[in-house]
Amino acid sequence: MTMLDKDIADLKVLITEDEIQQKLNILSRNIENSFSTDEDIYVICVLKGSVMFCSDLVKRFSHNIQMEFIRISSYGNETKSTNNLQAIDLTLPNLDDKNVLIVEDIIDTGLTARFLTDLFKIKHHPKKLLFVSLLNKKCARQVEIEPDFYGFEIDDKFVVGYGLDYKGYFRNLPYIGYFPN
Ligand code: 5GP
Repeated sequence: MTMLDKDIADLKVLITEDEIQQKLNILSRNIENSFSTDEDIYVICVLKGSVMFCSDLVKRFSHNIQMEFIRISSYGNETKSTNNLQAIDLTLPNLDDKNVLIVEDIIDTGLTARFLTDLFKIKHHPKKLLFVSLLNKKCARQVEIEPDFYGFEIDDKFVVGYGLDYKGYFRNLPYIGYFPN
């Protein structure tokens, strides 16, 4: 018996599966063109929300890549950013002088992106550091930061699907949706 207080029947589609997959073709090309062809890319998947995006993105890469996973939590069970970042696992190999791509699901207040960018610059000294986010809520920004690449700009509404959750649910949807008030 599920304790979920949202019904999938009420979910409105914001970005279709097809729109996401088409966008990934463009994004992956643009990202690859920004790195030298003969160098490895260290792809950093920020769990849990980026799991679908990152998996689909790397399938399109022709570079040699390594995948690494870190885990950060900022929303808990809420639908508003708590400004309370929890670094759950930041274990990474030595990335000094490497080409690094951070893959995020969504940039909302910008606090997570700021934290990660600073962390990588201070602790890892990559040769090149690029940041991609599937979604960009520009209107919700609290700190000034923009990703190098993003898929879709969206309004300040809470979205689920394609890796993004509500109370741990809906990550498995192949599209992005929201619950109208
Ligand atoms: P920020 O630090 O930019 O405020 O938030 C980044 C993180 O908050 C994202 O990686 C994501 O986990 C979560 N988040 C922000 N907006 C949404 C949203 O609309 N839906 C869901 N499910 N998570 C969100």
